[in-house]
Amino acid sequence: MDLYNKERTLEQQKERFKEECIRCYKLLEKFERTLRINNYSISRIEKYWTSLRIIHKILAKCFEDAKKEDIEELVIKIDTNKNWSE
Ligand SMILES: [Zn+2]
Repeated sequence: MDLYNKERTLEQQKERFKEECIRCYKLLEKFERTLRINNYSISRIEKYWTSLRIIHKILAKCFEDAKKEDIEELVIKIDTNKNWSE
């Protein structure tokens, strides 16, 4: 896959996130900027967006509102559902 296609895949992934939660989307945009400054590859950045979208869904809560217990709960859910990363 060339760079143009990678960027497009990333954009699509971001669009999906944006539709689900604009609040966390904005938060993750800042995160993405940090990753880009640190020279993370597009594929790696796309992987983060995908994973975080799934986590957001399982968590059923915004990242900023998540508490320690929510994260623990999430880890248990991921542990008991091996297909979570589909
Ligand atoms: Zn959210």
